[in-house]
Amino acid sequence: MLGEKLLEMLKETGAYLEGHFLLSSGLHSSHYLQCAMLLRYPRYAAFVGEEIGKLVMAFDPEVVVSPALGGIIVGHEVARFLDVPFLFCEREGGVFKLRRFPYPKGKRALVVEDVITTGGSSSEVGSLIEKEGGVWVHTACIIDRSGGKHSLPHEPTSLLKLELPVFKPEDCPLCKKGIPIYKPGSRPL
Ligand SMILES: [Zn+2]
Repeated sequence: MLGEKLLEMLKETGAYLEGHFLLSSGLHSSHYLQCAMLLRYPRYAAFVGEEIGKLVMAFDPEVVVSPALGGIIVGHEVARFLDVPFLFCEREGGVFKLRRFPYPKGKRALVVEDVITTGGSSSEVGSLIEKEGGVWVHTACIIDRSGGKHSLPHEPTSLLKLELPVFKPEDCPLCKKGIPIYKPGSRPL
């Protein structure tokens, strides 16, 4: 199954870790996900781009748009598979803008992200596309962590759905067991 194959790739590349982690939100988790670890291998980036591309072909997108930075590599690979242009949005003064490209008037856009948690970034990109005169036809990602609780107007396409447990520090069962905590990207605390 595709989801299982992807999970193996995520584990193999260190993109999906199990243990005891301090997240940037201040919450603790037993799992940590960092898609950049998977996407540093172009072969895997091409694989996820192709698999997402196959699933979204029916929406007939004419352009792929991603939020920088997380969506750039995967969005580019999806666009390559679909053989359509790829654009990315960047934050300027806290809001997403198409700083480097004009939006192709009236074109059907697919928004692509690496991970959807709340759907906030994708929604913002989708709204921008509509403001620029485009049609936001669909949204896709590698991993959907939303558990269905996202702000998107449609259900996104994903290769894998994951719901990772998070705990407040005072309620963390891993802290209670005395397991050392790691801040991903750094040495043990
Ligand atoms: Zn903890």
